Amino acid sequence: MAESTVFERIAAREIPAAIVHEDDRIIAFEDIAPKAPVHLLVVPKTAEYRNVSELATGDPQLLAELVGVAQKLADERMGGEYRLVFNTGERAGQTVFHVHAHVMGLNPGDDDLTEGSLGF
Ligand code: AMP
Repeated sequence: MAESTVFERIAAREIPAAIVHEDDRIIAFEDIAPKAPVHLLVVPKTAEYRNVSELATGDPQLLAELVGVAQKLADERMGGEYRLVFNTGERAGQTVFHVHAHVMGLNPGDDDLTEGSLGF
């Protein structure tokens, strides 16, 4: 059996994380190395899909749910405006091969959208 991914281990509570959402199929938590004032990761619990392209093909409903969770979290924490990033491939900066969305935005009341303030 393949070794668990870091995100599976977070979902199993084997590694601590600041969890901000959980349901049957999706977990979301704060990125440990934030590249934006608010930087969350939204992750399907299954590690079956390595990237967003595989997820879109294999379970488009789950991808839609993931986007819905990103929107809900952005509504709660970023005034509803956010950047949604899926790195795909090592040369694009992907380091964890368990599909995940980076949800990055500003705190409410913060308008410092200088270059680079929302990562990547
Ligand atoms: P990527 O480079 O797109 O594969 O994104 C992986 C992200 O996972 C990076 O932004 C890391 O900072 C983040 N990350 C890695 N390990 C952890 C962890 N234990 N808890 C929270 N975020 C993590």
